[in-house]
Amino acid sequence: MGTKAEVDRSETAIEDRAGEPDLFGDFLMGLMDVMETASCGGDFKNARQVLTTMGMSSDDQAGILESMEERGGHCDCGILVNVAGDMIRDAEEKRRASA
Ligand SMILES: [Zn+2]
Repeated sequence: MGTKAEVDRSETAIEDRAGEPDLFGDFLMGLMDVMETASCGGDFKNARQVLTTMGMSSDDQAGILESMEERGGHCDCGILVNVAGDMIRDAEEKRRASA
């Protein structure tokens, strides 16, 4: 006859950040999608929108956009050209090197 178990492990405060590389990929794919129809205004308006859709807090967004700038992505289209382009090139070089 069940009394409620006292072990309640619903500690939702702990955020799972294990998937950060995936998070970049999701973000870049999402931005590519948006930029097919949107245009770049020389800022991160579309990038922020994608991150917001992904449920990122504005603190997390700032961190991601900062690392985009470090990689040469200074606006929506700059992210696609300099960051996404690099990642695709890297992946292809690795594929070619292992072939
Ligand atoms: Zn741009």
